[in-house]
Amino acid sequence: MRYISTRGQAPALNFEDVLLAGLASDGGLYVPENLPRFTQEEIASWAGLPYHELAFRVMRPFVEGSIADADFRRILEETYGEFAHAAVAPLRQLGGNEWVMELFHGPTLAFKDFALQLLGRLLDHVLVKRGERVVIIGATSGDTGSAAIEGCRRCDNVDIFILHPHQRVSEVQRRQMTTILGENIHNIAIEGNFDDCQEMVKASFADQSFLKGTRLVAVNSINWARIMAQIVYYFHAALQLGGPARSVAFSVPTGNFGDIFAGYLARNMGLPISQLVVATNRNDILHRFMSGNQYVKETLHATLSPSMDIMVSSNFERLLFDLHGRSGSAIAELMDRFRQGGGFSVEQDRWSEARKLFDSLAVSDEQTCQTIAEVFASTGEVLDPHTAIGVKAARECRRSLDIPMVVLGTAHPVKFPEAVEQAGVGKALELPAHLSDLFSREERSTVLPNDLAAVQGFVSQHGNRGKPL
Ligand SMILES: *Cc1c(COP(=O)(O)O)cnc(C)c1O
Repeated sequence: MRYISTRGQAPALNFEDVLLAGLASDGGLYVPENLPRFTQEEIASWAGLPYHELAFRVMRPFVEGSIADADFRRILEETYGEFAHAAVAPLRQLGGNEWVMELFHGPTLAFKDFALQLLGRLLDHVLVKRGERVVIIGATSGDTGSAAIEGCRRCDNVDIFILHPHQRVSEVQRRQMTTILGENIHNIAIEGNFDDCQEMVKASFADQSFLKGTRLVAVNSINWARIMAQIVYYFHAALQLGGPARSVAFSVPTGNFGDIFAGYLARNMGLPISQLVVATNRNDILHRFMSGNQYVKETLHATLSPSMDIMVSSNFERLLFDLHGRSGSAIAELMDRFRQGGGFSVEQDRWSEARKLFDSLAVSDEQTCQTIAEVFASTGEVLDPHTAIGVKAARECRRSLDIPMVVLGTAHPVKFPEAVEQAGVGKALELPAHLSDLFSREERSTVLPNDLAAVQGFVSQHGNRGKPL
């Protein structure tokens, strides 16, 4: 499989190189040159496969030529064998033909484990084979950091530096990062906000001289391997609910458009998906595009669903690329316009094409809490605030009651106690068994000023298993 950039100017890469790349050299994102397409018979024959085996069937075409079948199978079995639920991504019914797919049974209790636990193992495999070491620098508002650290903790050839805003992530989220100890794991608390952290990561990718020749790898959802891993659970859910003979709809709590883009790809690979609901919080750039064809940056608001607090959705460029007939020059032009003026619309027929599949809703904090309370009253289930946004949007946007609606349950509620408390759900939430001693574990992190030179200095001093590069 070859991968091409959404802006058309960067060289095509194979899977191995795409795994180790961040942005393409032309500023674009990598996508498969040709998407594999499965027949209905082929998909139907996968019913009943264990999750890791289904994952192998769905993802094999993407890694072909880079990862041997036997290695890939073993890596997938290890990755999903670590999840705390035998079904890996179990479905739970909430109402009439309405389901939540629980994607929070991985080690760090959010759906990001599906991709990042795999990414860590794939990196390890490729780096050992090549005899190379890399440095990862990532910014997190909470969930990405812990999943990336957990995924890379056993990778001897990776040093990972995760920047989080000092005193601005929840205690559970912080402890999930800082209590994983290892000479290759470095938590940096920045005296600034999430955007400051992300800016420093971007600047470090742009000028890597401080790394003295060591390669920098991206763990945010611009990394193709993350999207790839998320395609699998759309197939998994559909197969449980009568697919592919029957269509299925999905509602996806969305920030960077990564998770829902994976659903769009699943459909293009042959899975009958009749509708995808884009569910956002008050930071609703995606909703404004889907409802009114306006892609315009606005100020950032802090919400009860912090993992979706974004101003710009980095993966949206991948959808735009398809909507524009895969013209790299058209995307380069649009993105230029976006950078200069802050917004754009697309031609009417392109927007209508998107609207055939996508609907959207922006959900306020108040509605989020209301939904948590309603679902608790009617089912006894406690939803996390991101999942609650998905449920609310599913209920408002649903096109057909005959088609099963699956809401992606993106996090365990114990990660976001503030929203659950505000919703007035009087049920004590407990950490799962493997994290029950989280609050008594030793923490390790370094507080640094909001200063690029300080952060890069720290990385070059500790980037080789804790020693200087
Ligand atoms: C990251 C995250 C999201 C948003 O996912 P995207 O792929 O960025 O759209 C939603 N919910 C939770 C809990 C998350 O951690």
